[in-house]
Amino acid sequence: KELPYLDEKPEFARQKRILFASFGFTDPTNIEHYLVHDGYLALEKSLQEGPDMVLTEIKKSALRGRGGGGFPAARKWEAGRKATGHPKYVVCNADEGDPGAFMDRSVLEGDPHAVLEGMAIAGLTIGSEKGYIYVRAEYPLAIARLQNAIDQAKEKNLLGANILGTDFSFDIELFQGAGAFVCGESTALTQSIQGYRGMPKASPRPRTTDEGLFDKPTLLNNVKTFAYVPKIINSGGESFAAIGTEKSKGTAVFALTGMVKHCGLIEVPMGTTLREIVFELGGGMVGESPFKAIQSGGPSGGCLPAHTLDTPVDYDSLVSAGAMMGSGGLVVMDESTCMVDIARYFLDFTQKESCGQCTLCKLGTKQMLNILEDIVAGRGKEGDIELLLEVGEAVNAGSLCGLGKSAANPVLTTIKYFRDEYEAHIRDKACPACACKDLISF
Ligand code: SF4
Repeated sequence: KELPYLDEKPEFARQKRILFASFGFTDPTNIEHYLVHDGYLALEKSLQEGPDMVLTEIKKSALRGRGGGGFPAARKWEAGRKATGHPKYVVCNADEGDPGAFMDRSVLEGDPHAVLEGMAIAGLTIGSEKGYIYVRAEYPLAIARLQNAIDQAKEKNLLGANILGTDFSFDIELFQGAGAFVCGESTALTQSIQGYRGMPKASPRPRTTDEGLFDKPTLLNNVKTFAYVPKIINSGGESFAAIGTEKSKGTAVFALTGMVKHCGLIEVPMGTTLREIVFELGGGMVGESPFKAIQSGGPSGGCLPAHTLDTPVDYDSLVSAGAMMGSGGLVVMDESTCMVDIARYFLDFTQKESCGQCTLCKLGTKQMLNILEDIVAGRGKEGDIELLLEVGEAVNAGSLCGLGKSAANPVLTTIKYFRDEYEAHIRDKACPACACKDLISF
């Protein structure tokens, strides 16, 4: 059932709520609320019909991992099932660290049992008895709700030994991350759980499904990926695949922030355009200043200008436009935003979060940041843009993990779409976007 306001307000009416379906209807601290809304029914069905049914439905759903990469979930789960080592592990990546992103946090706080149920189904499917949730320590409410949910599920024999009287046992432990953005990378995350410094492993390296946590087969997925699974098992993979675009099925969840009237979390069918998100769900721009750009994908993504607003949000279209889906942050900017400063802001973030083991990521981003700070402060010089492009492409090409491989993206896309603004800073020692025209000094 829908609450009346959901239909009346455009920011809700255009949404398709699968992950957020129970938000506002159920008490996430009370397992009974989850149970009366078909909670743990998918686990029960999976126990009765077995892993082949689960894999068939996930395959039919064409679910892609929601951590940002969009890898087909069925392929990963199949690989986990086929892996021969023992024991096997299921790991949920809840180390959401993008600036402005809080989608995973909301799922953990608003529907923690969906994540646990999805993980238990994953454990059954690949033959694992142990799951870990790697959750940010900066999410105390999410941690409290998860622990409460785990305790309640154990009491009901929905987690723990011999679940619902079967021979399947599965336990889940929380592991609190210490605030390093790079620990969202799979090998850094597993290293961190093992007690080592969270640093991505060098290539070539085995697939996590063959050799992950404690060098054992590990199925690692994002919070949202696991939370979708019970819904897919309950309503069938085909119904999930009926939503979205040809290659990106289901819904996309975004944290919509910036200069729009209605900021907040939204869940929309894949294929909804950026224009619909900004001007219908977001209610349009705040104040008189017109739309200038939208940043998709956080510090790994890109800034897209007004002429790309008809881009559908799906994994492939956003990449073609010069951005990426990422984990789901969308920041809307108006004409008063300085795009050079935006690029500096995101690069400052990634530069500080670099783990430091790759020369290009550690020193290349630092060199780029120095140049950007000079340009923003009015000390830019001829050749700076070309140098940014050269170093940026080298950083992306020569870094080991996703953090470094995408670190230069905000710089490269702002140069691509807003080069005149860089040139004005260098040539006129002034920012054409900021009303005060004063340059920031560092
Ligand atoms: Fe570390 Fe950056 Fe290299 Fe990733 S790309 S391993 S964050 S130095």
